[in-house]
Amino acid sequence: MSFASLGLIDPLLRNLQDLNYRTPTPVQVKAIPAVLSGKDVMAAAQTGTGKTAGFALPLLQRLVQHGPAVSSNRARVLVLVPTRELAEQVLQSFIEYGKGLDLRCLAAYGGVSINPQMMKLRKGVDVLVATPGRLLDLNRQNAVQFDQVQTLVLDEADRMLDLGFARELNAVFAALPAQRQTLLFSATFTDDIRAMAANILRGPVHISVSPPNATASKIRQWVVTVDKKNKPDLFMHLVAENNWKHALVFVKTRNGVDYLAAMLDEAGYAVDTIHGDKPQPARLRALERFKTGEVQMLVATDVAARGLDIDDLPLVINVDLPIVAQDYVHRIGRTGRAGASGVAVSLVCADEAPQLAAIEALIRQTLRREEEPGFEAEHRVPQTSATGEIIKKPKKPKKPKVPQVAPGAMQVPGKKARPQSGADKRKPAAPRAVAAGKGTSLSSGSPFSAQKPRSKPAGGRGKRQP
Ligand code: AMP
Repeated sequence: MSFASLGLIDPLLRNLQDLNYRTPTPVQVKAIPAVLSGKDVMAAAQTGTGKTAGFALPLLQRLVQHGPAVSSNRARVLVLVPTRELAEQVLQSFIEYGKGLDLRCLAAYGGVSINPQMMKLRKGVDVLVATPGRLLDLNRQNAVQFDQVQTLVLDEADRMLDLGFARELNAVFAALPAQRQTLLFSATFTDDIRAMAANILRGPVHISVSPPNATASKIRQWVVTVDKKNKPDLFMHLVAENNWKHALVFVKTRNGVDYLAAMLDEAGYAVDTIHGDKPQPARLRALERFKTGEVQMLVATDVAARGLDIDDLPLVINVDLPIVAQDYVHRIGRTGRAGASGVAVSLVCADEAPQLAAIEALIRQTLRREEEPGFEAEHRVPQTSATGEIIKKPKKPKKPKVPQVAPGAMQVPGKKARPQSGADKRKPAAPRAVAAGKGTSLSSGSPFSAQKPRSKPAGGRGKRQP
């Protein structure tokens, strides 16, 4: 099967050749002809399947071949996405695939000044990729009107609902022309998504390229059980032991991100971070540095889970499990893309058993468990099963001696738990110092150590020269 046989025009084929896309992926084989023919589409396709090209290529072709030029403050194709990162990524895809086609494309999202977006919309755009909130803002200010919208794309629709955009989406649906093409892409199909699909799609072509909610089969994934307080140390230990050099690391909280980043930095890794409190240009810069290899470790909260397009990322490390099970699929979707193989490791503590059970039910498999010598969990992580069952409930946790954080989150210093010693107030120590039994560490002298220091396996972290 070739792209040419799917009916794509020469300029697009040339661009694909330049990008070294040789054969269409399964979702592209099904989506491209359907979208070209003007039909609605409902596609169960997770990130990494090539879904963006699946809708962008045929839409670019339709824009070139059909319809009048766009008027000022109008858009012909509207792509709704959950996050700014995904907005930028999808925009880049349209630009790359549509090189030389003389179409105007724009991404509009919150967190940055609205004025440049309003200016760019004055001439009208062929493709507007937007997050729902900012799109409505622009619409309220008459910067964009919807009467020329021919096609609406909902990309990662499940994630938009997870992020609480249901009201905004309904407002957009109500404002769009009834006569239009609608394409809905979602990694998972919950009842809410199905209800939304029933409301907005007309006789859609159904596409499912892998079992819904399954993770890419080429990804090797397992969990390492550990006590919550030992997660940062275990993380550093695993990175050093396995000589992991390029990884995307997920942590639940912003503080956790900063804390791990400081540890990695201290240990000599090139590291950057992405979280919701970081301005958008800084996030994009971090992503770019990670993509080019300037940064080895990118530590992120879930805000970055979607929309990161990184080729050949071999490894995702979940230092905390996500609260929403679907986010696990999105997180590890960063690796094993477009047929590549990857590794996803999750550090799991007893509190996270319900999240683990929910993830296993979603992906319909029980994740292999490992223990790392020297980091065995004292609070046993209850057994879980692929039916979402927790086989034995965890014992009621003892009264905590450390500050409470979100369930399962890696613990980071909080105001109430300032260490007593001056040394502990400083940045976390390099793991090598911990292995050598000197200096400070999260497990030996920090407020996270409710228990006595552990002895680390011989030859552990000390071996690494990052
Ligand atoms: P997506 O699922 O749209 O996020 O795409 C996942 C990755 O696969 C991106 O890095 C794309 O550039 C890449 N990709 C998409 N389609 C193809 C193709 N037919 N051949 C090679 N790479 C592709």
